[in-house]
Amino acid sequence: MDSPFTPACAAPLRPRIMPRMEHDHEHYMRLAIAAAREAEALGDIPIGCVIAIDDTVIATAFNRREIDQDPLAHAEMLAIHAAAKATGSWRLERARLYVTLEPCPMCAGAIILSRIEEVYFGASDPKAGCCGSLMDLLSDTRFNHQPQVQAGLLGEECGAMLTAFFRSVRARKKADRNPEA
Ligand SMILES: [Zn+2]
Repeated sequence: MDSPFTPACAAPLRPRIMPRMEHDHEHYMRLAIAAAREAEALGDIPIGCVIAIDDTVIATAFNRREIDQDPLAHAEMLAIHAAAKATGSWRLERARLYVTLEPCPMCAGAIILSRIEEVYFGASDPKAGCCGSLMDLLSDTRFNHQPQVQAGLLGEECGAMLTAFFRSVRARKKADRNPEA
């Protein structure tokens, strides 16, 4: 295992809300993985995000940074935006957010500002993750909201998807440099 996206160990969550859920959390992470695949199909880094309240998915989004040439177009930002539109409220207090990669500082900030209740992420991000890797913004009690966080949900699958993507990008770049090889 040489993947930098090795999942952090999944600590059990202490739920503050009791969602009415027919499906388990892995079900929603699989939907986030499917969204990530859409980003990949369009040539972007495969990162997907789903926001749910009880059993209802209120937003699904994938990373569009390259597609839109927008540094803010992370999967979580787009999903939070869509979720607020769908519910008609900026407060997403009963919402659970599932994302295939550990949120960066921008997205962790947006999660705090939108009062999302629970965050489930797959792979850890040692270069930008701010939910335990570089820092842990979501558990900082100096902010007025601390979501519950579970790391490593389907983490190996999420990490393998990213590792395979970057491997194929490197292979393509190499092929472009040595067209005869
Ligand atoms: Zn982000």
